[in-house]
Amino acid sequence: MENEQTVELIPCPFCGSKVELSASDGGWCILCAKCGCRMENTDKGTLLDLWNDRYSLMDSIQDTPTLVYFLERLKKRLEQTTKTACELEALTTILLRRIAGKETY
Ligand SMILES: [Zn+2]
Repeated sequence: MENEQTVELIPCPFCGSKVELSASDGGWCILCAKCGCRMENTDKGTLLDLWNDRYSLMDSIQDTPTLVYFLERLKKRLEQTTKTACELEALTTILLRRIAGKETY
């Protein structure tokens, strides 16, 4: 069972403003009223996780090896999901190859 509103929303990663969670067509939406940054998902819990996770990612990725680590992790997750993720998975693979080709880690 999920508890409603137990997860606190981290402020907008781009402008630092408070963001709002609301129901949208067939799902949920987090919107920053100031800069218009938004994120949507059909599942509320997933959306909250994604939103808060992105902020911590932007904060923690300071160098290429860390970026590669997160990309590899993302790629693994994508491989386990549906076909809709195929394009993103391909992009991630290309990015990883390019990084690997340019830098030693
Ligand atoms: Zn914003």
